[in-house]
Amino acid sequence: MTAKVIDGKAFAANVRAQVADHVARLKADHGITPGLAVVLVGEDPASKVYVKNKHASTIEVGMSSFEHRLPAETGEAELLALIDKLNADPAVHGILVQLPLPGHLNSELVINRIDPAKDVDGFHISNVGLLGTGQKSMVPCTPLGCLMMLRDHHGKLAGLNAVVVGRSNIVGKPMAQLLLGDSCTVTIAHSRTKDLAEVCKRADILVAAVGRPEMITGDMVRPGATVIDVGINRIERDGKAKLVGDVHYESAAAVAGAITPVPGGVGPMTIACLLANTLTACCRANGLAEPKGLTA
Ligand code: NDP
Repeated sequence: MTAKVIDGKAFAANVRAQVADHVARLKADHGITPGLAVVLVGEDPASKVYVKNKHASTIEVGMSSFEHRLPAETGEAELLALIDKLNADPAVHGILVQLPLPGHLNSELVINRIDPAKDVDGFHISNVGLLGTGQKSMVPCTPLGCLMMLRDHHGKLAGLNAVVVGRSNIVGKPMAQLLLGDSCTVTIAHSRTKDLAEVCKRADILVAAVGRPEMITGDMVRPGATVIDVGINRIERDGKAKLVGDVHYESAAAVAGAITPVPGGVGPMTIACLLANTLTACCRANGLAEPKGLTA
């Protein structure tokens, strides 16, 4: 194996420590405690685990955590009223509505009701537009985490060829915008892309956000490239449950220069960046300098 393993777990621990440091200083110097409100509607088991982890991480860095668990049958008006209340609450600097919402609720309508300044997931249409036009915004957590790891590994990204496989609104598209913002030459590939292997092989930076277990294999990776595997796929192998990425790790690591593992790569960075975004939102709301190195 030749590739350097990018340790997302250690990187995320470092980001969380930096956030905790800033939070302590905000409290000591200004008497301000950043607060994150998480809204969970329904009983989706995976969502419940995510919300629990977010709560624990928020408390751990010294922030206030406000959890709102609503029954699956909650109506639109009731949910929107809660968001209005959180928008108006000065103790709440970040609002996250856990997705997916139950089918009878319109996710777009709900997300776009969040005050864009408190939209720590970066999914509000205003933040999407600000990112797309290169302006200061709240940036989606998963691509922000990928960007931080890439900057750390490469230093400057300008001029590098980046290929993002996947064009979802939560990962692929914002990832491509962020890489463009750092002056990469960006290609976005998707299910209709012709000769995906050839496209991937041009990449100095290859980001896989496809949702297909181990689809990107070593023969699609340019020797020495940096491979960021966003995928989280639960599969069964040899009768055992296993978590794998969108990249076939062994074959890709044999040719790549650096690679993120699954688990322990991009995954831990997502919650760390949620905390970083909450801190950023709090600093902006109070007219204070933003934390360095924790924003796009
Ligand atoms: P989506 O299903 O929304 O998007 C998948 C994208 O992959 C689509 O753009 C699709 O193309 C493209 N695609 C599908 N099949 C192929 C193919 N054969 N060749 C090329 N492109 C293909 O997924 P998400 O973006 O939400 O998530 C992607 C992965 O990242 C998943 O494994 C998910 O679990 C993981 N994830 C991990 C997070 C983390 O914290 N680490 C956070 C969020 C997601 P098209 O548009 O043409 O259909």
